[in-house]
Amino acid sequence: MVSLPTAFIFLADLGHKAGYRFPSLRLIGYVGEQMSEEAQRHVRGILGDVEIKPLAYSSADAGLMGYQCQQAGFGTYHLPTDFQYVEILDPESHAPSPVGQIGEVVVTNLARRSMPIVRYQMGDLASWLDGACACGDPNPLFRLAGRAGDDFKVGGGFIAMRVFDQALEAAGAAVSLNYVVEVEDFENQMEIRLQVEAPEPEQARDLAGSIREAVCQRAPLIAEGLEKTYIRDFAVGFVPLGALPRSPITGKVKRLDDRRVVPTAAPASS
Ligand SMILES: [Zn+2]
Repeated sequence: MVSLPTAFIFLADLGHKAGYRFPSLRLIGYVGEQMSEEAQRHVRGILGDVEIKPLAYSSADAGLMGYQCQQAGFGTYHLPTDFQYVEILDPESHAPSPVGQIGEVVVTNLARRSMPIVRYQMGDLASWLDGACACGDPNPLFRLAGRAGDDFKVGGGFIAMRVFDQALEAAGAAVSLNYVVEVEDFENQMEIRLQVEAPEPEQARDLAGSIREAVCQRAPLIAEGLEKTYIRDFAVGFVPLGALPRSPITGKVKRLDDRRVVPTAAPASS
């Protein structure tokens, strides 16, 4: 099967609800977005021991930017140097990141002439890997490290979306890994709401407390904010499978909805 991680998580959740498995399913190939290790285990835990592989790191605009080999580990890709020039740059200084240091992926497609892609910011984070790949392919390797801006500010630090994947995985198959985190401001106080799809939303309510606790454990800044009351509430709620809005274009669930971000005003016309 080939599809988006959002769709495979949804399929696994439906399978869990209906007690249905796919005995002949051998390989899941995903594209379009990154799939966390937690999401992969969630899908495997329900659908069985299937192989899960990212087919490629690509985008509609920039084309293929990475391909895997048998040796490439989780999130690791070869760069197709024949037609793609990729830079990994420090987000602050824009200087090239040394091997092993995470920076922003900036791509120049060397083949597209009619609609040039020149130093295009993908919005993804990655780092170069050292040395040659065991497969013998001389093309360099890089490892993706999530989306740039895929975290949100609380107090003096940042919360990575990963902590929600981890907390939800710990709650077991009764909750999905398709979720959205809503962050909103109310007169100097912040509210965080975690909305999770669940096969049986009513029954999943019993898990709200332990999920909340698991998130606070992994993100002490949230616990601290609640204690010091600059976070007025951190609520965990459940909705039916498929209920969270999907992008009509890509089919993905947008996991972070930070409503504190004020859209940039259009320049005033003179
Ligand atoms: Zn390789």
